[in-house]
Amino acid sequence: MIFTDPTLQNLMILLGEVTLFIILFLFGIAILMVVLIGTSIRSGKVIFPALLRPFLVLMEGFVKGLCAFIGIEPGELLKFLIRLDNRMNTSAFSAVPVAERAIFLPQCLRSSKCPAHLTPEGLACVGCRRCELGAAIPKMEGLGYRVFIIPGSTFIKRMVQKYRPKAIVGVGCLMEVKEGLEMCNRIGLVGMGVVTVKDGCVETIVNWHDICEVITIGIDPSSIPDDFDVSSN
Ligand code: SF4
Repeated sequence: MIFTDPTLQNLMILLGEVTLFIILFLFGIAILMVVLIGTSIRSGKVIFPALLRPFLVLMEGFVKGLCAFIGIEPGELLKFLIRLDNRMNTSAFSAVPVAERAIFLPQCLRSSKCPAHLTPEGLACVGCRRCELGAAIPKMEGLGYRVFIIPGSTFIKRMVQKYRPKAIVGVGCLMEVKEGLEMCNRIGLVGMGVVTVKDGCVETIVNWHDICEVITIGIDPSSIPDDFDVSSN
């Protein structure tokens, strides 16, 4: 279409320039995001989390594509995004009294010979000690947490609706934790994620020290038993 009116012509040129400027600006921001992500992954520290998170929400797909282009593994990126979410949520999580927090553990952490039965509130551990959950759950409950062993993410939604915790800790594989944290962000719940070190459907493994580190955030150290370590029997 050819515009003969000079005013209209100038308007269209201006519109084109503004559009080009916005595209270049977003592209520049995306490059900056990728540099910050790559540096954070390499250094093990989350650099400028407050800057990264809002832009990542807006441009996640594009930034993921650029990360893949420069060779950042999707798994590494996911781990980083979870660490970023945890970092951003730490102070809000710390402010929530432990009585208003819940922990969701995946059923795959159980022994394959687990005798626990499925109840409307998840699997009811009987403490048979065939897996580490038997020792860990009473210790977590001793701190004041409500703890669930869940067979799927629908249980999280159901238990959140029933007990209305203000903060939750979710344990699971990369995708489960990422989706859980996204759900928390959507419904205004403070979420912290811990990723299992071995994936799969049966007898997966979690680093219990990672869980301890998260669940003790904001708890007065004097109220944590000296020998508190959820992995030890
Ligand atoms: S300790 Fe609990 S979760 Fe683990 S196998 Fe026994 S009943 Fe199942």
